[in-house]
Amino acid sequence: MNPLPQSLAMHRVRATDLATVTEGEVRWSPGKSIWFIGMTLVAVFGGVLLFSWSAFALFIVSTGVVLLLGHSLGSHRKLIHNSFQCPRWLERVLVYLGVQVGLAGPLGLLRQHELRDYAQRLPDCHPYLRHGRSPYLDAWWQLNCDLQLINAPEIQIEPRIANDVFYRFLERTWMWQQLPVAVLFYLWGGWSFVVFGVCARVSTGVFGHWLIGYFAHNHGEMHHEVRGAAVQGRNIRWTSLLTMGESWHNNHHAFPGSARLGLHRGQWDPGWWVLTALQRLGLVWALRLPAHLEPRPELVRLDAIPSSSNLQLRRLLTLLCSSGAPDDIEIVWPGRRVGSASLRWMLSNTTRTTLEPSSSRLLLRSGGQELLVGVPALCVAIAHHRGVWVRSLMLLCAPLAAGLECARDCYPTTAV
Ligand SMILES: [Zn+2]
Ligand SMILES: [Zn+2]
Repeated sequence: MNPLPQSLAMHRVRATDLATVTEGEVRWSPGKSIWFIGMTLVAVFGGVLLFSWSAFALFIVSTGVVLLLGHSLGSHRKLIHNSFQCPRWLERVLVYLGVQVGLAGPLGLLRQHELRDYAQRLPDCHPYLRHGRSPYLDAWWQLNCDLQLINAPEIQIEPRIANDVFYRFLERTWMWQQLPVAVLFYLWGGWSFVVFGVCARVSTGVFGHWLIGYFAHNHGEMHHEVRGAAVQGRNIRWTSLLTMGESWHNNHHAFPGSARLGLHRGQWDPGWWVLTALQRLGLVWALRLPAHLEPRPELVRLDAIPSSSNLQLRRLLTLLCSSGAPDDIEIVWPGRRVGSASLRWMLSNTTRTTLEPSSSRLLLRSGGQELLVGVPALCVAIAHHRGVWVRSLMLLCAPLAAGLECARDCYPTTAV
């Protein structure tokens, strides 16, 4: 087995072999499938027949409350990551609201999260665990099936959580926990309140959780790369408010223990806003931030590479002109978009290339330091050890290359 990152030594998942998270079969899970499809059908047909604005308002408010206080703060930032401290009663209230999302019981959700988190940090993991197939297949898998690993690793949950009588009760009865809420809503506003306040809320929460999970591992901005990981988290800006800050998933992969997910300027994080308000009221304390976490050698800051078109251009021109690129430059190439034959054809024989499928971008490296990404990196590599004509051509292309790179990915420049 390859040496694992030090950060996995204290993980709740205790795998003895890589195969424990790569070998398995995705099987239809009748309970999960009927739960999701049943809720969705009632929400769609009942929603059309029983629509009222008051019921719709109940859907919006109740969904917002369970996603923000329940899923984001209770289940994720507290129970799973313990990224802040609060009184036990408040933790239980938040976790109870998390169960109301309708994804799983608190212990089941924690196990699923930990397995996924562990598997994604390894060099390879099952495509189910990294949302690695087409969106249609992934939707079928995540919403209707379970992954049956041949040799599932042991997951150790600390006794404080595993032996908690309330959490064990919620684990056994998580689907039934919708019932008291349904009765309450029925007494308050009749069947339309049940359809919108329970079925539409649960189906939207479960579907939204999958949708964000899919995009947050396939498309979106990156500030950090976890070297050697099977998949990288992505930040999805336009869903930051809808997900209560959870869609800053690249930040979360980089700093899983941070209570704050929107780490850069302009990254809205409603979960963090509520935590700071609760801190002012004295209800939460010891909020953890990236600076409080153990350093991880496998974590690389991508936005340390010049981000604005000006900086990209300046570095690109310096490398192409007078001083030229250092002799030891190396192109790190993810093996996508540009084939190996085309890459070899473009570069001189003396330029080193390294295939790194886990890398999200084409990188230009020298002495272990990253100099440029994407098209500008390719321009410098093409001109390396080549004659004056190729260099001049690359110089002419430089403004376009830097502009293209900036248009493609707009990295914020504020440091964490
Ligand atoms: Zn993830
Ligand atoms: Zn997490």
